[in-house]
Amino acid sequence: MKTEFTLAQLADPDIAVADKILRACVHCGFCTATCPTYVLLGDELDSPRGRIYLIKQMLEKDQAPTADVVKHIDRCLSCLSCMTTCPSGVHYMHLVDQARVRIEKTYRRSLTDRLLRSVLAYVLPRPREFRLAMSLARLGRPFKALLPASSQTRGPAPSLLRRLRAMLDLAPAAALPPPGPSGGTVFPAQGARRGRVALLQGCAQQALAPRINQAAINVLTRHGIEVVLVKDEQCCGALTHHMGQDADALARARGNVGVWSAEASARGLDAILVTTSGCGTVIKDYGHMLREDPQYAASAAAVSALAKDISEYLAGLDLQTGKAPHGDIVVAYHSACSLQHGQKITSIPKELLSNSGFVVKDIPESHLCCGSAGTYNILQPDIAMKLRDRKVANIATVKPNVIAAGNIGCMMQIASGTTVPVVHTVELLDWATGGPRPGLN
Ligand code: SF4
Ligand code: SF4
Repeated sequence: MKTEFTLAQLADPDIAVADKILRACVHCGFCTATCPTYVLLGDELDSPRGRIYLIKQMLEKDQAPTADVVKHIDRCLSCLSCMTTCPSGVHYMHLVDQARVRIEKTYRRSLTDRLLRSVLAYVLPRPREFRLAMSLARLGRPFKALLPASSQTRGPAPSLLRRLRAMLDLAPAAALPPPGPSGGTVFPAQGARRGRVALLQGCAQQALAPRINQAAINVLTRHGIEVVLVKDEQCCGALTHHMGQDADALARARGNVGVWSAEASARGLDAILVTTSGCGTVIKDYGHMLREDPQYAASAAAVSALAKDISEYLAGLDLQTGKAPHGDIVVAYHSACSLQHGQKITSIPKELLSNSGFVVKDIPESHLCCGSAGTYNILQPDIAMKLRDRKVANIATVKPNVIAAGNIGCMMQIASGTTVPVVHTVELLDWATGGPRPGLN
């Protein structure tokens, strides 16, 4: 695609990156067929190709975007299915990330939109505040019928009441479990130590399902790996990054790069492991996000190189499985977008599960997002619910006993639409290697 940036614009390193990405797009449209919003809405402007065109115009004109442009970019899930499909290697992720930052800086959203986004950006990355918010949402669940279950608005975004309803729909029915271990805790390897890793503590997952990281710690230590929860680590920044709030996301990235680099220098780290693939995709991108920061560029690139999804690391450990009586349990494996499209990890989790004796089934249309996508299921609840229902219907066709996924957002989203238990892949691997049976019916 031909671009028309001026030389002055191209002196901005971000615009130089955008220019390179835009020039790679040949407008073939292959990506439209696998884009969830295009599949649902059938509007070219809700396809990757359409959005690329809108972003190109917004950046070239160097003006605040219109409400219509914002609507179509806001509807993008950042699922990155288009990147998997694109034969020309267009790096859509770095382009839409820039577009979101530009929107955040130059477009004035409605008061309710700004308020909601501010609350989400403040609460979600803070486990204590998130726990409190979830407890309040749980109390509000009985009143959700008073709120609209679909959007009537013709405006650029769903109404605040509709979004509040979406939050209540996602709130847990039961009280949250007690928090997991805090930063600074070290879990020694059982037997001879074969390695040493940091495990990302996470924010929302830490509050909703501390059992996931506990399962990871169980499997790792059982196989001779020492696990450290690094002190003063914080939210990876993915949630605010995807809302275009770059100052917050970059500050969190710098903070984490600092504490992880210090831990690696002082005591050594073979890897930084992540059990929430949405976070893993962003941490693997820290090197790009901080590339222009002279103080952090090198250490951020080193941190990104150390970051691994838990499944990637476990694949190199020769797991001692066969210790659980799971017989012929059928597992529907849900491939989180951040894992399959963001990190290109597709077969490893399924191989780990089938090598552990589970009967693993692929879900039809597995390339399509479940609608979770960070804060998307709150900010765009109508599209998110349609995608969830489609995902749940596809899952039902393989008649599973359990659904496994590698991302807490997907787990919550899918669980809100099915009675089939949803667990993290590592919980099943923990069970198969001698840990407790996860919450299956
Ligand atoms: S598939 Fe790639 S090259 Fe073709 S329109 Fe989509 S982004 Fe552009
Ligand atoms: S990231 Fe997903 S929703 Fe956004 S344009 Fe690409 S395929 Fe469509």
